[in-house]
Amino acid sequence: MRKPLIAGNWKMFKTRQEAKEFLTELKPLCNDTSREVLLCVPFTALETAKKAVRGSKIKIGAQNMSWADEGAFTGDISAAMLLDIGVDYVIIGHSERRAMFGDTNQTVNNKLKQAIKNGLKPIVCVGETDAEKEAGKTQEVLYKQIIDGFDGLTEEEAAGTIVAYEPIWAIGTGKTATPELANNEIKFIRNKLGKRFSDKCANKIRILYGGSVKAANFASFMAMSDIDGGLVGGASLKAKEFAGIINYEK
Ligand code: PGA
Repeated sequence: MRKPLIAGNWKMFKTRQEAKEFLTELKPLCNDTSREVLLCVPFTALETAKKAVRGSKIKIGAQNMSWADEGAFTGDISAAMLLDIGVDYVIIGHSERRAMFGDTNQTVNNKLKQAIKNGLKPIVCVGETDAEKEAGKTQEVLYKQIIDGFDGLTEEEAAGTIVAYEPIWAIGTGKTATPELANNEIKFIRNKLGKRFSDKCANKIRILYGGSVKAANFASFMAMSDIDGGLVGGASLKAKEFAGIINYEK
């Protein structure tokens, strides 16, 4: 019922030329897929990427956005600017933005509302640090990120939001969560969303797993009951590897 979403997050990699080369290579490798394919690229490559995916089903997203409409926000990028390029998706509250650029559950909430107001599809990232995991606080952290992050949303707005569960200790480390552990935390998130909104709503929300996903391990995550796709960093930088993730065997 929930369509699998395979989302790449390039982070601060790739010039326009590199983006074009990657997408030209990827296009024929995922032509027949029934899965939704998305690449979240740096702001500077968005327009090039949009042009490069013409004639394919690949979607293009941004990795962050402003909570404000416009104004004195040096260095920020607004929803209107993203829409102007034809961007559909935006990542909100990635752990790197939370750790290094001041994103909090409050700013995540502001950005989420701004994305929804403008018709951008948000992917909200949540996840615990290694220390929080070791202290047994994973679900406490996830609960707060979800409840505060989704504050003030209607049921319909919540249903259209995508969540990415990315344990921070698994990001870029080569250390993945086991599929069972990831599924367990994702079920926890869905359960809390169900209590906060409704079960019907929670069953519509796609929840992705992220953290050292690659072609060789992705199928084991997708075999789980509640994992609806992946948010892929490092392994989304090479077209063949990313295509291997998109075309995972059931
Ligand atoms: P990774 O990154 O796949 O390189 O671990 C995932 C992410 O940060 O979204």
